[in-house]
Amino acid sequence: MNHTLNGLVTHTEPKASKMVNQLREQGISHEALLTLMATIPRHEFVESAFSHLAYSATSLPIGRNQTISQPLTVARMTQWLLSYARLGRVLEVGTGSGYQTRILAHFFNKVHTIERHRPLYLQAKNRLASMGVNNVECLFGDGQAGWPQKIEMDAVIITAMASKIPLALTECLKPQGILIMPIDQPSPQIGCWRKEGDRWKCLGTEPANFVPLLEGIEHA
Ligand code: SAH
Repeated sequence: MNHTLNGLVTHTEPKASKMVNQLREQGISHEALLTLMATIPRHEFVESAFSHLAYSATSLPIGRNQTISQPLTVARMTQWLLSYARLGRVLEVGTGSGYQTRILAHFFNKVHTIERHRPLYLQAKNRLASMGVNNVECLFGDGQAGWPQKIEMDAVIITAMASKIPLALTECLKPQGILIMPIDQPSPQIGCWRKEGDRWKCLGTEPANFVPLLEGIEHA
């Protein structure tokens, strides 16, 4: 686990501090998470035309009709993981910009992340490498099929909205593993569940909107 902030502190800027103060007011209380979000250069994860809005309380375009989630949503999902999951191995479905991946990489030993848009996959992979993140494995593919090598995960986080959870993603989760996922039933929300035998214990839900979880891959 890497809890040091070396190499990150130089990026802190006033807009990031303001973003973190807002997160605090909205119920995010995990200090290491808040410190990390204050130091990660979020403006480097959005399209350059929107970089002035990178620290605002809004989702933003990242290309290919996809969006980076707003800071509060990223913080909520991560705070659930930090509260309930063993911080060993996590699978993320929907790499997108790689911003959530970057945060996961700080707290988990190993991050596996899958993206179905090839250009986004390549961009996030290069971006993370250039930031010196070396505990992430990026994959171009349909995340609904799970990770190709059947590795057991301590947590699964899906960052696109579905009506039901793909079977492959529940099967790779260890007993007592944590699932974070947006669902559109009965209304758009993000939820956190623990796998308890063949049952799911709900640990929390919050209203949230996401782009849809889609089938197949896109090469361009
Ligand atoms: N966590 C991302 C959020 C990106 S939005 C971030 O921090 O930027 C959700 C992403 O999920 C999009 O990039 C979309 O292309 C991807 N996605 C949707 N369905 C998918 C699937 N079946 N497999 C892999 N990625 C998928």
